[in-house]
Amino acid sequence: MICYAGDWYGCKEVPFEERYRLIKQAGFDGVYAWWNEEGMDDYRAQPEMIRGLGLYIENIHAETGGSNYFWEDTADGAATFKYYLDLIGECAEAEIPLFVIHMGIGAGCLPPVSDVSVTRLRSMIDKAERSGVNIAIENQCAPDKNERAMEILEMFGSQRLGMCYDSGHGNVLHSNGTGRKMLKRFGHRLTALHLHDNDGSGDRHRLPFDGSIDWPTLMRQIEELGYKGPTTLEMGGEYPDLTAEEFLGIAFERAKKLDDLRKRQ
Ligand SMILES: [Zn+2]
Repeated sequence: MICYAGDWYGCKEVPFEERYRLIKQAGFDGVYAWWNEEGMDDYRAQPEMIRGLGLYIENIHAETGGSNYFWEDTADGAATFKYYLDLIGECAEAEIPLFVIHMGIGAGCLPPVSDVSVTRLRSMIDKAERSGVNIAIENQCAPDKNERAMEILEMFGSQRLGMCYDSGHGNVLHSNGTGRKMLKRFGHRLTALHLHDNDGSGDRHRLPFDGSIDWPTLMRQIEELGYKGPTTLEMGGEYPDLTAEEFLGIAFERAKKLDDLRKRQ
């Protein structure tokens, strides 16, 4: 199955329903959806819209803005925790098997893991287990976010807690190889992919094969880890000369190439 990130498009001005229609038209089997108000007030209507167009909804990407607060014993931290807890219920209700979260955003350091954050994580994992929903922690560019992700994956061995590998974040030089280390250590718990390319200098979300990632090696590694989920692109907007249709057509060809590399193993 080949999927596409609903919000990462290259054509942000295109309304969501039209984006999803074009994604389907380009050949993709499914999408993941962002769960926030950016670009779409009624974002909870997405599952119905996506399925109505004949697309599979692979997972939801949780809002990232509040993720740094999660570790704090503050009102903002409690709000982020509540958002995640509600999201588990919303996924269960909409029959979406998984959501992706960040351990934080940006380059600033996270506060240490405290009792309050451990209690919050335990509640989330308990609810995920009761609801049959999976949580995947995504590797970031900043090394401390990846160290935190590994600490939490180590702390909680639940089958409902896994990882999402973001190939672009894993390739940027300032990640110091921590994303790839996370894939090596916890790749047996890999449940989602965000595939895109860059030249190592920054998180550019370019098309696969337009950067320096060694795709045959990465796709072989993913296959060897036993990953059975979709091959999912997470694209950015660095192709201003292409129309949405042209861009999506090329994106699908590249995604197909990655999917074929998996099958070749
Ligand atoms: Zn990502």
